[in-house]
Amino acid sequence: MKIKTFMQEYKMSQKTPPPIKEGEDEKCNSRPENPQSIAPCNEDPLQNLHLASQEVLEKAQQNGRSRCPKCTASRMFYCYTCYVPVEAVPIGEIPRVKLPLKIDIIKHPNETDGKSTAAHAKMLAHEDVTIYTYPCIPEYEDQKHEILLVFPGPDSVSVANSVMCLQKYMKSNIHSTLDDDFADEPTPKHRKHSFQDAEASNETKLSRSNKDQEQIKMKAKLKTVVFIDSTWNQTNKIISDERLQGLVQVELTTRKTCFWRHQKGKPDTYLSTIEAIYYFLKDYHMHILKKDYEGEYDNLLFFFSFMCKLVKKAKQSAGKL
Ligand SMILES: [Zn+2]
Repeated sequence: MKIKTFMQEYKMSQKTPPPIKEGEDEKCNSRPENPQSIAPCNEDPLQNLHLASQEVLEKAQQNGRSRCPKCTASRMFYCYTCYVPVEAVPIGEIPRVKLPLKIDIIKHPNETDGKSTAAHAKMLAHEDVTIYTYPCIPEYEDQKHEILLVFPGPDSVSVANSVMCLQKYMKSNIHSTLDDDFADEPTPKHRKHSFQDAEASNETKLSRSNKDQEQIKMKAKLKTVVFIDSTWNQTNKIISDERLQGLVQVELTTRKTCFWRHQKGKPDTYLSTIEAIYYFLKDYHMHILKKDYEGEYDNLLFFFSFMCKLVKKAKQSAGKL
């Protein structure tokens, strides 16, 4: 089936660790065993979304593939290399989602573009999403106080606590820089920190000037969230890259994926990239912006939910459901 080529799994944003086979990397093993509450999964999370009309997708599906206006490749719905709708899909009928922050997606070069749901984010929130192909990624060194990396790990925190951690991190780093000014040793370029350290440092240095505090408030503002778009087995090289060290790491509350391509033997709590982005933003909206969620980012699942429905239908008619 053609649509099978559109998606890939997002395998790294969950509190509940997957079963670890012997010989798998240490990072998997070192994931914390403190799963947060699992979101209710007795209902289909895609059922009550506030979505734009998907009629345009239904028509396109019936008519089959058409050309990408930029590279002329034959595609369904949109071109996953140019991030534009195909000729048969009017751009005005694709919803645009405005995000409250910037999203950077780091894609593994070996991943097939057509399988990645990262393209959905770029298609639907064009202005706020940037996709990088590893190893071509930005230097985050000077913006670590305004960036979160969605990836599980021993130091990772919940979305609700993430901004507080950025503030602590900022305080810790300002103090460290001041300390370093008087130290004989040079400042290490990549300071590995933990939030426990940040907190301890914070407590012992509360006497620092109010000016520092103001500076912290000004700067400790989340601007960019980084996601890694890669299969679990390929994430290691990316996550251990020097440029991503020291970023505040976030893990999402465990949710079950609706993605139809999740591999046999893998838990259904591995989200696709677009699901991970969507759930992050939903949590951010409720826990950081402290607003009621009224479907603001639901259209990020515009393509995803449509594909899910198609696959479900196809499985039903094949007698597999
Ligand atoms: Zn194209």
